[in-house]
Amino acid sequence: MRFLHPLSNSRDAPSCPPFSDRGDGRPDGRAPPFASDHRFRPGGSSPLYFLYRIGSIDAILTAGSGRVRRPSPPTSVDFFQRRVKRSFKDHHRKLEGEAMRLYDVTMTLTHSMPTYPGEPGPALTPVKRMKKGDPANVSALSLGLHTGTHVDAPIHFIEGAPGVEALPLEILCGPARLVRIDDPEAVRPGELERAGLNGATRVLFQTRNREWIKASRFHEDFVYIAPEAAEWLVARGVRLVGIDYLSVEAFGAPQPRTHQTFLHAGVVVIEGLDLSLPPPGDYDLRCLPLKIAGADGAPARVVLAGG
Ligand SMILES: [Zn+2]
Repeated sequence: MRFLHPLSNSRDAPSCPPFSDRGDGRPDGRAPPFASDHRFRPGGSSPLYFLYRIGSIDAILTAGSGRVRRPSPPTSVDFFQRRVKRSFKDHHRKLEGEAMRLYDVTMTLTHSMPTYPGEPGPALTPVKRMKKGDPANVSALSLGLHTGTHVDAPIHFIEGAPGVEALPLEILCGPARLVRIDDPEAVRPGELERAGLNGATRVLFQTRNREWIKASRFHEDFVYIAPEAAEWLVARGVRLVGIDYLSVEAFGAPQPRTHQTFLHAGVVVIEGLDLSLPPPGDYDLRCLPLKIAGADGAPARVVLAGG
């Protein structure tokens, strides 16, 4: 699967590959049996395939001739079969390894989670209950759109701008860099310069906030992204930013300069990431917000693969 979008730059052109596609799978994401080993392609011209063919020919020549074949080193067929078995084991081990490297960086929606002051928290209301004789359990969910892990749409701070359903998947998914921020107050240009983003277009900030993301109490003194850092990031072509608390803006900021800088530039903002587990590094990001027409934001399931 390959998305090409006018908003994508060439570096990210092959963004949004399926997780299973590590360059050795088919375009549809399904890996052929020996996808990672081109030497086993039927009809290939590789040395191994040649040995396999030679083995077959040798068996034909000696069959019925009465000649007793000397015990010999493993035949090419044996070698081929052992290699096949090993390849399956390698493939299985690889899949296990990939599964271990998936990080769910989404806050769990629960009544005890921290919410930004004034934001209605999540409420799950029973509509039907089997215990009461209904044929199924059905619930209704209500919550502010900026609850937990969520994205901000341009209309959040720009009147008449697009809603969350218009955010391009090409930006929401793709290579992302997780950067550790040591500044206890804000993400600032100086630390970004030292971090050296090296052309990363999706950047997630892991700050000291990560210790609070699971606490039920809201902390006002969370690490935010300074407006100057927002300008710094926009100037370097960053298309998506994420932070590990409920706003990119300083709490009580007189003007929403950070939000406006990002949203005017078409930068997707993810807030409320739970970055308590993944170490800094490069990942494959999948951020899938609910597709709500005209909405100023939406809860999202966010996953990091790799690292
Ligand atoms: Zn928000």
